[in-house]
Amino acid sequence: MKVSGIVELSTIDYPKKCSAVVFLSGCNMKCGYCYNYKHITERSYEMSAEEVFKNMDLMFAEALVISGGEPTLQPEGVKELCKLAKEKGFPVKIDTNGTNVDVIRDLVENKLVDYVAVDVKCRFDKYKELTGIDGETIKENILKIINICKENNVFIECRTTFIPTIMDKEDIEEIASTIKDCDMYAIQQFDNEHAYCEEFKKIKTSTTEELLELGKIAKNYIDNVVVRTLDGEFRINNDLMDNNKNNIKNRR
Ligand code: SF4
Repeated sequence: MKVSGIVELSTIDYPKKCSAVVFLSGCNMKCGYCYNYKHITERSYEMSAEEVFKNMDLMFAEALVISGGEPTLQPEGVKELCKLAKEKGFPVKIDTNGTNVDVIRDLVENKLVDYVAVDVKCRFDKYKELTGIDGETIKENILKIINICKENNVFIECRTTFIPTIMDKEDIEEIASTIKDCDMYAIQQFDNEHAYCEEFKKIKTSTTEELLELGKIAKNYIDNVVVRTLDGEFRINNDLMDNNKNNIKNRR
């Protein structure tokens, strides 16, 4: 498979576990705010699943996170990697932009992943403009992925990186009401400094307080809502916000 990078050991990418993170090359979207775009399109090392594991810190890593880019563009490599992780007793999380339902279905139904995190980039009528992908198709895909995960007892997280000026509270309202059956919804702070496009670098990022207000809107539809800032993670409670930081950073 084509790999753009490996983080040997991370404490922020798999809940409550130290994990290794493998970033696969290539993506079928081109989000202007992507902090990884240059790496995933310009760096590509051919590696087998065994070679990926040789680059992990096997002394401390307890889980494998497969990210990108869009990992489902390399279904055979991903499957090989998941199988090896399972043979070694590692729980597996996969990040996806939701474009390849069949690849996710295959992994979930064959019990090769434990956790799926799917991006919901924006309100579905804005998808085309922001990502180049048709919004109605992606909405259908995301709902299918949620169902597949729920039917197979695989944890399903949906997540949105909130970009001020492009998005507003109506985006969060529409997204949350659409994906209300997921296990967790995360609203993530936009990292303007590392955005791929110059015009996105100029957009001022939201404050933690603004994101917490958005979290409260989402909480009307979904029980488990978190806000991830560049410094930590905040869980939204019914009446108040719990400011316990879990030191989980936004990766995508
Ligand atoms: S943010 Fe995700 S989906 Fe968008 S270009 Fe970057 S890797 Fe691809």
